[in-house]
Amino acid sequence: MTELPARRLLLVHAHPDDESINNGATMARYAAEGAHVTLVTCTLGERGEVIPPELRHLTGAALGEHRLRELADALAGLGVTDFRLLGGAGRYADSGMMGIPDNDDPGCFWQADVDEAAASLAEVVLEVRPQVVVAYDDNGGYGHPDHIQAHRVALRAVERAADAGWTVPKVYLNRVPRSVAEAAFDRLRQELPGLPFARSAAVSDVPGVVDDELITTEIDGAAYAAAKAAAMRAHATQIEVAPDERHFALSNELAQPLFTTEYYQLVRGETGRPPGRDGEAGGSPETGGNRETDLFAGIEEGV
Ligand SMILES: [Zn+2]
Repeated sequence: MTELPARRLLLVHAHPDDESINNGATMARYAAEGAHVTLVTCTLGERGEVIPPELRHLTGAALGEHRLRELADALAGLGVTDFRLLGGAGRYADSGMMGIPDNDDPGCFWQADVDEAAASLAEVVLEVRPQVVVAYDDNGGYGHPDHIQAHRVALRAVERAADAGWTVPKVYLNRVPRSVAEAAFDRLRQELPGLPFARSAAVSDVPGVVDDELITTEIDGAAYAAAKAAAMRAHATQIEVAPDERHFALSNELAQPLFTTEYYQLVRGETGRPPGRDGEAGGSPETGGNRETDLFAGIEEGV
């Protein structure tokens, strides 16, 4: 077996575009720093709503193929070269938004057997041996069936991999601190007249918003803001990025802030910050510097 790269990060996402919205800056940063970054996407998002009128003829398999190309472009810009579709191309179909008849399609990810899907993902985990896995919370961030399922499959795969010989040292959930989301929407509403969107989304539209105390880790991606905006723009069927690159909208055309600091909640493993030593580990001043600023903090090299 060839020697593994020193730092290995694996992210699990439901559809093409979720990786860039949630983790674009994080992925670009770790790829640039030489970490091995692996993305596993569970569906091709073929039930997504298409924004540009000239592309609205794309539906079903044709949309899935198109979104796969968008994803490839996004990842090229982020410097990520290791990308897998869970179970292989076309294994799991997009389930659509919660509550629609498509949720009952036997081929959709929502109807997938969690153990079977987790076995596929565990194979990747055992091959890549990530020290860090990033997933959604148990509500999938915002209640989309594929995101909820991606959470279940990711956490189950981590368990299966542990039973088979690789214990992932740190597992994180994608999060946004409530104070950050609220402040960003306050600013957004003031800037709205200058944006190409008529109305603002709300804090409740942002996936993964939680009380600030639950946030263990923040990754400052300011240096990768342009890379993140470009990756989001690559998903042109799904995302419209404002010219200022600080705001975007999905197909509902509601303006949202584009976060370049990305936030996480550690749910498995130990944080790498020194306990009880405020200020030493960095993090933003508002949090007293008590958050990790590196997903790999505390991981010994060579593990
Ligand atoms: Zn999604």
